[in-house]
Amino acid sequence: MNPWVAKGLVLGASVAMVVIRAPHGHRSRGIRVVKIRKGALETGLLTLAWLGFFVPLIWIASPALSFAEYPLRAGPLIGGVLCFVLGLYLFYRSHADLGANWSITLEVRENHRLITHGVYRRIRHPMYAALLLYSVGQALVIPNWVAGPSYLVAFAILFVFRVHAEERMMLEQFGDDYAAYMARTYRLVPRVR
Ligand code: SAH
Repeated sequence: MNPWVAKGLVLGASVAMVVIRAPHGHRSRGIRVVKIRKGALETGLLTLAWLGFFVPLIWIASPALSFAEYPLRAGPLIGGVLCFVLGLYLFYRSHADLGANWSITLEVRENHRLITHGVYRRIRHPMYAALLLYSVGQALVIPNWVAGPSYLVAFAILFVFRVHAEERMMLEQFGDDYAAYMARTYRLVPRVR
């Protein structure tokens, strides 16, 4: 199958992700930050995630990664498109539910509210679940050993190293309310501790 099919899909999915996030990023930039947890580890993780997101765009735009190419097949392509659709839908829903409480990094904003409804009702990290699904989609759709898994690897590392710090920050901020929320929810997938 022609790799340009995969290139078109990956470009479309990346644009959809940026378009979904843009209004929320714009709105949250206008709200004062009252607590920030951005040490060297968090800065490194964010840089890694950005790099992981950009490598597929390099694969689309240039032949630099052609040494790692393999043939594109229908099965992984269809699986990947399903992951994109589900991942982008969950990404859209979690941004809509989190509203002005969203941040790219670990921070608490003025009048920060604890969100426990919508896609946050049963899992605490639906946006990370969405980004993981999306990155699995990229790994399946991109027929290249470097560009395919780059975002999945980068985001999985970010998730593993960030999630405890984020939950600790939320516990400090919301105390018993967040503890009770943790007790009745799962991290990423309902019924999976
Ligand atoms: N981990 C969440 C949110 C990602 S955005 C998810 O995957 O859906 C990261 C920011 O969201 C954190 O800095 C924190 O301030 C905020 N946050 C995380 N969980 C929240 C919740 N349940 N309610 C309100 N804000 C939350």
